[in-house]
Amino acid sequence: MRSSDGAGPQRVTDPLLSSVAALRDLSLTGLSDDEIVHAMRGVEQAARMLAAVGHRLIVEASDRSLPSHTGTGTVKRFLMQTLRLSNADAGARVAAATSLGTWHDMGGDAVEPRLPATAAAQADGDISPDHARGIAAVMKRVPGSTRDADFHAAEQILADFARTGSPDDIGKVGDAILARLDPDGQLTDDRDRQRMRGIAIGRQRADGMSPVSGELTPTLRALLDPVVAKLGRPGMNNPDDPDSPCGNDESVDRDVLAAAARRDVRTAAQRTHDAVLALLTPDVSPDALGGHRGLPVSTILTMSVADVERAAGVATTATGGTVPLPEALKLAERSTPFLMVFNHDGLPLHLGRTKRLATSDQRMALIAAVRGCSRPGCDAPAALCAVHHVTEWGKGGPTDIGNETLACDRCHAMIHDGPGGWKTVVLGPDSKHPGRTAWIAPPHIDPSRTPTINHRHHPGELLAEALARIHAHKDLERAQHHEWLQQLRQSSDDAA
Ligand SMILES: [Zn+2]
Repeated sequence: MRSSDGAGPQRVTDPLLSSVAALRDLSLTGLSDDEIVHAMRGVEQAARMLAAVGHRLIVEASDRSLPSHTGTGTVKRFLMQTLRLSNADAGARVAAATSLGTWHDMGGDAVEPRLPATAAAQADGDISPDHARGIAAVMKRVPGSTRDADFHAAEQILADFARTGSPDDIGKVGDAILARLDPDGQLTDDRDRQRMRGIAIGRQRADGMSPVSGELTPTLRALLDPVVAKLGRPGMNNPDDPDSPCGNDESVDRDVLAAAARRDVRTAAQRTHDAVLALLTPDVSPDALGGHRGLPVSTILTMSVADVERAAGVATTATGGTVPLPEALKLAERSTPFLMVFNHDGLPLHLGRTKRLATSDQRMALIAAVRGCSRPGCDAPAALCAVHHVTEWGKGGPTDIGNETLACDRCHAMIHDGPGGWKTVVLGPDSKHPGRTAWIAPPHIDPSRTPTINHRHHPGELLAEALARIHAHKDLERAQHHEWLQQLRQSSDDAA
């Protein structure tokens, strides 16, 4: 878009365009690295805020019936013609404005956006259209019978997450929330799941390959995940690598496996395929599966006693899945998964089939308590994590559980004293989450260096926090309302 050449009436966007033009022509060579990062953040924030301005303009154009006045008919076609947008882009903008814009009812009164927390985050410039689309996609899957308070809490959690997290992770956070919004399977009950279950192995094609599709029940998933985590681990059972350890890794040398993992270029789907192949190869039976990262390959289920008492809610597996509680209890009855039950304070009550090895117990307790990588935003489940000593053993840190947490290999490597390194601390008794491991990001990610914990594996606590905030907000509104009434009374008394 070209700016007008001086003459003509002043437009509301003129100052914006001249600021952008000045920035466009500014020499960047004199800026420090910090200033460049700062400028990139500023440009991104401005672009995000502009997306919110775009919603307001779409609402206004629609309220004024510009599409019908211009003969374009629909808002989408109006955008396509006026702004020369593609069909897909115009459609996405209309969808975004529909859920994030402040529209008006028949009487002309403003109606709260359908996704108010998301709209607020975008108006602040904290989240991108990509984040907002991810949140809208999750909220579309919320069952229709969900209570309003839960709907708003879920949206609040997603928007809060999006303010600091990646759009790529919103779907996973959403899955965790949806599993808890509908824990008793009112939307999808066990009968529905049993009806949906199936593995279809299609006709073998001329090239010898067979397509597979289907739906796994939570129970099969919970049993399959640990096997895939072990046999399909990078470096294991790699047919492209003659030195890759095969089958049971009980006897596998750690260094040999680490070297094989570095050579491993298979996709996750290929590794899953090779894990199933290894599982079905005659000399590997599930009984002989041995250990994975010091624990037997088995399903580890974590549940809270409150959920057991209600016989509702979900159990969490070490591989990051969820199993509806009734099914988890059935699984625990007929096989012997490792079962961890937590009391109301989150302390372990029951440690099923305990091994004597203290390290194994500690790892189990960590899996149950921490559930996955402790770095904020990381969704690696416990099965992909190693035990991390918060105060390094070399620096006098004890080997007790208070000083231990879980970190996946990738995040573990990010902790160092060099530039760009992360730090970890255990939160003190006065913190909101005492005993939890908080991570301190390097200054280019978080200039304030605030210790932050990972909520990814504890969606329940995000839900609790969001509900508390919503209640606090309601209380505040009530207090303001009360104060306003008092003032009104006062002034009417004064007038009398
Ligand atoms: Zn991680």
